[in-house]
Formats: sequence, C-alpha cells, structure tokens
Amino acid sequence: MPATSLDQVVSLAKRRGFIFPSSEIYGGLQGVFDYGPLGVELKNNIMQDWWRANVYERDDMEGLDAAILMNRLVWKYSGHEETFVDPMVDCRNCKSRWRADQIHGQCPNCGSADLTEPRPFNMMFKTAVGPIADADAFAYLRPETAQGIFVNFANVLSTTSRKLPFGIAQIGKGFRNEINPRNFLFRVREFDMLEIEYFVMPGTEDEWHQRWLDDRLRWWASIGVSRERIQVYDVPKADLAHYSKRTFDLMYNYPTLGYQEIEGIASRSDFDLGSHSKDQDSLGLSARVSPNSHSTTRLTYFDPTSNKHVVPFVVEPSAGVGRCFLAVLCEAYDEQMVKPPADEKLAAVSDALAAYLKSAGKSEKISAEAREALVARGEAIATDLPSALPQVESLLAMVGADQIELGKKLRGQAQPLTDEHFRTVLHLRPRLAPIKAAVFPLKRNHEGLVSLAKGIRKSLQSGGRMRAVYDDTGAIGKLYRRQDEIGTPFCLTVDFQSLEDQTVTVRDRDTMAQERVLVAELQGYLEERLV
Ligand code: ATP
Repeated sequence: MPATSLDQVVSLAKRRGFIFPSSEIYGGLQGVFDYGPLGVELKNNIMQDWWRANVYERDDMEGLDAAILMNRLVWKYSGHEETFVDPMVDCRNCKSRWRADQIHGQCPNCGSADLTEPRPFNMMFKTAVGPIADADAFAYLRPETAQGIFVNFANVLSTTSRKLPFGIAQIGKGFRNEINPRNFLFRVREFDMLEIEYFVMPGTEDEWHQRWLDDRLRWWASIGVSRERIQVYDVPKADLAHYSKRTFDLMYNYPTLGYQEIEGIASRSDFDLGSHSKDQDSLGLSARVSPNSHSTTRLTYFDPTSNKHVVPFVVEPSAGVGRCFLAVLCEAYDEQMVKPPADEKLAAVSDALAAYLKSAGKSEKISAEAREALVARGEAIATDLPSALPQVESLLAMVGADQIELGKKLRGQAQPLTDEHFRTVLHLRPRLAPIKAAVFPLKRNHEGLVSLAKGIRKSLQSGGRMRAVYDDTGAIGKLYRRQDEIGTPFCLTVDFQSLEDQTVTVRDRDTMAQERVLVAELQGYLEERLV
C-alpha cells in the first residue's frame, strides 16, 4: 500500500539522505532543497528513464541542453516579462504574503479576512550580468526550459535535417520566485524540468496532443505511478492562456495534498515560434502575438509537399522532476507487517496511545488546531492497530506532539514493537532504485568472507553498470531492513558455503525469497531483473 501521509515520505527522505534542506547549517533557504547521496541517484535514474523513453526509444526526437541564462529579449517576446505573474495579497493583520488564488479570501496564518487587493507579482528571478553596475545589465534565471528550445528551433532544424513532425527534449533547471513555497519538494523555487516541444503540421495538432497524452500516461505507469491515482484534467476554455488551444493537466493524488498537477500537456498553436520570429505579418500566424522588432530569424519550416514555408504548431508535455520524485516515493512506500505482534504487547501500546491522546486533548501548551490534528490522527491510528503501528512515529513528529510528556512513554512502547514486526520498504522499479545491490559478509571479522564480498561489490559496480554497496555494520537481518527502506532490490550475502562453491544468497526485496546464485553469473542475473 502506498504512503498514506506525506509525512511518512518526508521523514524517510530526510532520515536516509534522499533530501536535505538547502544550506541547513545556516537555517536553510525557503523553497530550496538538496538531493543527498540516495536522492541524487534516484533523481538521475528518473531523468535518464525519461530521456531513454522520449529520445532513444523514439525516432522523432532530438535532445538539447540550452543555457539557463539567456538574452533578456527571449523573455520579453515569450510574454513572460508581462504575464508570468501570480496574484499576490498581503494580510493587513499579520503582514504575511500569499498567492490570492490559493487562500480563498482568508489568511492561512492568522485567519483574518483583511487582505489587500491582489496585485501581480512576477516570478522570474533576476541576476546581474557582467561587472558594470548598470540597471539594464541583468538576465533572468529561466522559469522554464522551453524557451531555450524555441529560440534554437532553426539551429536544430538546419543541423539535423528533420522533417515534421519531430520534437526536441530538454532536461534542466528552472527557477521560480514562488510567493509561498511549500509541501516539501512540491512547490519550490529551484527545480529540474522535463520538457518536450513537439512540432507538427498545422491541422494535425489535436491528434498529436492526444497521442502525447497517451504516451505520457504510459510513461508514468512504467515508472510505477499508478494510473488509478492520476486524473486527466481537461482545462476549461475560460481558464486557458490565450495562445493555448487545449491543455491536459495530469493530476496526481498525493497523500495529504490530494490531486495536484504533476505535468501539463499543452497544445500551444504557432504562438511560440511566431512570437520569436521576424516578419510576423508574412507568416499567416493563427495565434495573436506581440510585434517582434528584434528577432533576426523566421522560425519556419519548408514543407516539401506544398512547397510552402509554414510555422509549425507545438504540443508541449512539461513536468517537474521534484514532483515526479515525490510521486515515485509515495507510490513505492510501504510499511509491511512481517509477523503480528503478541496481544499483550499490542495492548500496552494501545494503553500508552490512549493516555497520550487524553493528555494531548486537554493540553494548554499547544494550539487548538495542533491539538485537534494530533487527536484526529492518533484516533485513526488507534482504530487501525496493529497495522498502523509504524505511524506512531509520524504522529510523534507532528506539530506540538513533542510538548506532550507522555510521548516518550508511547515511543518507548511502540518503537521496539515496530522494529521487530514491521519493515518499511520502497517498492521502487528496480531500474530507478538508488542502489541496485548490497553485498554483506556473514561475519565481518572473517577475512575470506570480507574479501569475497568486497570483490563482488567492486566487480558489480565496475564499468558504471550499477550502483552497488558493501555493508558489514550490523546483523544480516538489520542490514536487510536498512536496504528495504531505501528500495535496494537485491541483497547478496556471502557465507561459508560461498567459499566452497562460489555461490551467494540473493534475497529479493519484495518477496523476501532467497536463492543461491553463482558469483560468476551474478552480473547477468541482476541485469536481467533490473527493469
Ligand atoms: P502550478 O499551477 O502548480 O504553479 P504551473 O501550471 O505553473 O504549476 P507549469 O508552468 O505548467 O506549472 O510547469 C510545468 C511543470 O513544472 C508542472 O507540471 C510541475 O510539475 C513543475 N513545477 C512548476 N512549478 C513548480 C514549483 N514551484 N516547484 C516544483 N515543480 C514545479
């Protein structure tokens, strides 16, 4: 069963080094996160998978890596200088600042309805360029990678001799000065984007829009994001940007957050290429564009069938890596009961939980809101024991939870029982797992076992084929749990039999089944299963 609350995933991601708050030792920077040793592997694997599916496994795609800094005119003619804005309001009571369309007329901080009129706030970051302190010597940090594709359209076309339809894919950083970054990786100020601009003959865009919707849904399913938890939102005409013919937003049902956008797939007509072209009047554009007096190039395609220059229409699938990373973790997360705990031990936890909730319910040390949330969550856990036992830890991590004295006692009862009877496991698609194989010697002070185990790890990892680790810092059972929690699909144990017959025990993360495999056949055995 996937994660039931975002806290479970946030806590795992922090605990195991997937994600760290940026510049944490200085108090952090709001809306910015770092990917730790495991996070960088998972993120790279997601990005590579997207690239493989969208570039290597199709014959109609090229790749690109445009710079983050671009001529400011790009953002003038793309429309971002004028329209890349969110409506901002201030709360006159507590002075906090909010995005008007997300707060329903009431300050989420103090509850006041005394808000200023919304005013537009441009979300592009600026940075100085060059050594001269001149008001005009600045560039924007790109808020999307897409414009790098549009302004390179003619370059790619002339260097690859592509015919329509074809697309250009790009992965790269985007920066948005969000008014309220929040919900962990979901809304941040710096993030990686996965973007495709697919260029088609005018008149064929509806068909291609539908095909991209289907292709993208297939990819999400292939990386383990269940189709049942994605809704396709056909954005109503009234809410569309003026250049968009139609947009499908893919909405993923995140635990705690509910349905939120993970990808937008927009049919953008000839707006983008038309906006960045010279001689716009001669191009017969269907989109309404601002006059361009700076572009040096017509971004057109010569159609050999009609012998005419046309401005291609564009279909744009655009997703954020962070939101994808979070969805993948939520889907993969599982807390599994390995064997049921004894009744009397469970009763002791129930009693400690009931006493804790009673105390929390009347505590004056925490706000009414925190009290209510704590009790509601605690009661839900109480009715769902023993399977909800592992959730006691996230209950105790909630706002205000540490103010209740009885928390220590509850943790003391619940934690050993959880450790003994449950395992947290990430059922990641093996090819996405940060670490593919972990190798353990049965005894860490036996030279023969240790050197065979280290040798196996080294040979598995050589040539960059897979990330493998060696670990001898605990009993085998504990090492299994540690790898389950980060989604390592295979654990290999070197024991005394290994020294005799050159086999190791391979233990499967999901089924926990074990089998002996010849060391010489390990590489092939694993690669076959890393799908
Ligand atoms: P939202 O309405 O949530 O602000 P958007 O409609 O502005 O998103 P797009 O401009 O369509 O988003 O961006 C494409 C994708 O980039 C989104 O589907 C999302 O996955 C990702 N994305 C956008 N803004 C952020 C952000 N602040 N943090 C993380 N990912 C983001």
